[in-house]
Amino acid sequence: MKLPEAFLNRMKTMLGDEEYESFLRACSGNPVRGLRINPMKITREEFEASAPFPVRRVPWVENGYIYPEDVRPSLHPYYSAGVYYLQEPSAMTPGDRLDIGPGDTVLDLCAAPGGKATQLAAKLLCAGEGGLLVANEISNARAKALLRNLELFGARNFLVTNERPDRLAAAFPLFFDKILIDAPCSGEGMFRRQPDVADAWSEEKVRKLARVQRQILEEGYRMLRPGGQLLYSTCTFSPAENEENIADFLADHPDITLIPIRPYEGFAEGRPDWVTRDLPESRLATLRRCIRIWPHRMEGEGHFLALMKKEDDGSGERVEGSEFPRRSRKSERKNPPAGRNERASRGGVGRKESRRTRQGEKKNGNPEDFRTFLDEMEIRLPEGRIEIRGERVYLLPDLPEEALHLNFLRCGVCLGELKKNRFEPAHQFALILSRETCGACLEFSPGDRALASFLAGGTVRFDGTEAQRQGGAGAPVPGWNLVLAGRFPVGWGKYADGVLKNKIPQSWRIEP
Ligand code: SAM
Repeated sequence: MKLPEAFLNRMKTMLGDEEYESFLRACSGNPVRGLRINPMKITREEFEASAPFPVRRVPWVENGYIYPEDVRPSLHPYYSAGVYYLQEPSAMTPGDRLDIGPGDTVLDLCAAPGGKATQLAAKLLCAGEGGLLVANEISNARAKALLRNLELFGARNFLVTNERPDRLAAAFPLFFDKILIDAPCSGEGMFRRQPDVADAWSEEKVRKLARVQRQILEEGYRMLRPGGQLLYSTCTFSPAENEENIADFLADHPDITLIPIRPYEGFAEGRPDWVTRDLPESRLATLRRCIRIWPHRMEGEGHFLALMKKEDDGSGERVEGSEFPRRSRKSERKNPPAGRNERASRGGVGRKESRRTRQGEKKNGNPEDFRTFLDEMEIRLPEGRIEIRGERVYLLPDLPEEALHLNFLRCGVCLGELKKNRFEPAHQFALILSRETCGACLEFSPGDRALASFLAGGTVRFDGTEAQRQGGAGAPVPGWNLVLAGRFPVGWGKYADGVLKNKIPQSWRIEP
């Protein structure tokens, strides 16, 4: 791989001759392949006992694993079940080091395609009841990929917005307990995985992106509540996009301090000596609290992390200019039973969908059909508010009024559609359920060929042959079945007369 001359010269100056040589060797090595398991679905112990290919732990990340080059985890049914997300190990670090508490309001400001958002969504759910993840992405096409990945992971308390950071900041002043800014960057840590990123690199691009990042940090500041934490990360090495930006941010905001990040022996410290911005010595020195992940020191492609806290001036409990005050939101949260408290009021849908409904789309559906479906399938819904908009049924988190003025793709989970005389469950509904919360489950062993064919869009015949029984599938019930790979839902099937029809949407199918 040919790396840009100006990049190499700068790296040599930054690292010195000896370290530069080992950096160069790492750049020509193989990229590290990683996956992060979904703690909403599986424990480390269970995954290690049942992993379908060899894995070893990423030693500094809670749920991270490294797998061999010749394995394709995206083709295994566990991928279709959202049991893991593919992500190289250093990219797992920011989400791992941002602590999430029960009921937190969390923002992932530059979130697509969702590597870190899926991690934060899982942490929020595992932390306890409630809370909200706003996952924002400025590019519409990338926001769609973000939504899909959150759905695949079985996330629930989320809002996917497609906004500019300044518009988001106007809607959510001093709102979030935790903010992740995984900023767009020159991607110097991506060079060995994606050589085209190296081709597109230039010094001018570094300078331009540094300005964009600094502006995004400013919008993040406006949304961070007093006492809240903001984690800034990039996958690049240039000081301009990293320490320089943080130094500038600290200089402009005396109420922001860098706080230590949970250490690991392979991490390198941030470098105050690479900063040109004037800053009091004591504050400049705190840049050592930043983390640099270098590919020649660790099994990762490279990342920069800065964890910061906004001083708590006591105003954080009541958010001025926001109708979503922390206290009342947490104490008033109720978990209405499914089927009750259904209101065709606000939220739950993206802009386009709500416009359609306003224009008076024909309604066939009867909410009773949804309740009947839940009863017949013996489904226990997770926490959330049920809302019916037009023909669609949603499971919603608590949502602040401000969100409704934004462009958003989805709030919460679309459970399905009310059709004439029946309820038709959505694919993502399957992904938030489990063997424990749904009675009508049809379990295949993960290695069953019939399951692979089902995931690719095929039907399954149940003719009672020996081969079928050896395949490990259970017995389907007439009508809807939640199809499982092992104990993990992968989608819906509908059974009649010995045939299980495939209800996995075309775009979700996996061709082997
Ligand atoms: N956090 C993501 C993940 O883990 O999958 C990766 C985010 S990527 C490094 C940065 C994202 O910022 C891109 O999706 C890009 O579209 C978005 N972006 C680009 N320009 C932006 C801007 N001016 N403001 C906000 N986001 C921007």
